[in-house]
Amino acid sequence: MPSLSRFCIPEPLSFRRELLAWYDESRRALPWRESTDFYRVWLSEIMLQQTRVEAAIPYYLRFLDRFPTIQALAEAAEPDVLAAWSGLGYYSRARNLHRAARLAGERGLPASYEALRGLPGVGRYTAAAVASIALREAHAAVDGNVVRVVSRLTNGTGEIDKEAQRLLDRERPGDFNQAMMELGATVCVPGVPKCGDCPVLRHCAGHAAGRERELPVRAPKPAVREIALELIVLRRGDEVFLSRRGASEKRLAGFWELPERAGFPKVVAEPAGRFTHRIVNDRFRVAVWTGRTRGNPPGGEWVDPAALSGLPLTTISRKALHLVHNSGPRDL
Ligand code: SF4
Repeated sequence: MPSLSRFCIPEPLSFRRELLAWYDESRRALPWRESTDFYRVWLSEIMLQQTRVEAAIPYYLRFLDRFPTIQALAEAAEPDVLAAWSGLGYYSRARNLHRAARLAGERGLPASYEALRGLPGVGRYTAAAVASIALREAHAAVDGNVVRVVSRLTNGTGEIDKEAQRLLDRERPGDFNQAMMELGATVCVPGVPKCGDCPVLRHCAGHAAGRERELPVRAPKPAVREIALELIVLRRGDEVFLSRRGASEKRLAGFWELPERAGFPKVVAEPAGRFTHRIVNDRFRVAVWTGRTRGNPPGGEWVDPAALSGLPLTTISRKALHLVHNSGPRDL
């Protein structure tokens, strides 16, 4: 029985070998795994920071199609970058990526973990993931999946960062990091892990102690804030009225959005539907209305439907337009 203080996996060599053999055999075919090109790896890691793998894939492919190289991204205008990111959320990621691409154009591509850390939007995890996969540097990338896996492997007693770094395969650090994440995403999943399918079962102290479902021990979640929002899809002919968020807004600066219904008290509005949208700890309860008007209301612009797909549009507005027009804003 392992000691309960600072448990370390006793056979790291065979742990690495068994994990990597499983990864080589069973890994999912994901588009960013086709190459260790710096830009592709970096883009995928930024996209995956707050987005599930399945949701990120179409955005990743479209973004690469639109900006196939760092240089193409650096030369792009910010609204075009935001438009390509539109729908993924957490737009500071796109802004930072764009700024970082411009910095890389001036200074050259980052060639180390430390240089990566100097780029906007690149924290410890992202720098470690990109440095290990694209530069083959031996840095353990510790995301939520890896925290869960290491916590279970060590029966909740290991120091996660140190143990992950100690386990890391120095010859194949990128593959090892991805293997740990893959294990967490597909086998050592939250809730009830699939220990019967686990390639490193014999190394797992949490499973041996029957505690795998309790681990990792979580801090209580912060309360969710409920926010009611009433939006109006205001039209003049086919055009849609949109306003633009100011450059000093904390969130979504420069994005286009539908106006609030309260700004148009004289418009005869009809209810179109409701939906909820979650942003971190805020849950927006959105009621959508439709209405028509003539003239030029203040605080926004009439936008031709054909231009909508090229605009950075907030996800809430995109969802509201989709609700009203069913086939999505592009078909307006
Ligand atoms: Fe996770 Fe179970 Fe494998 Fe342990 S044995 S690492 S709990 S899947």
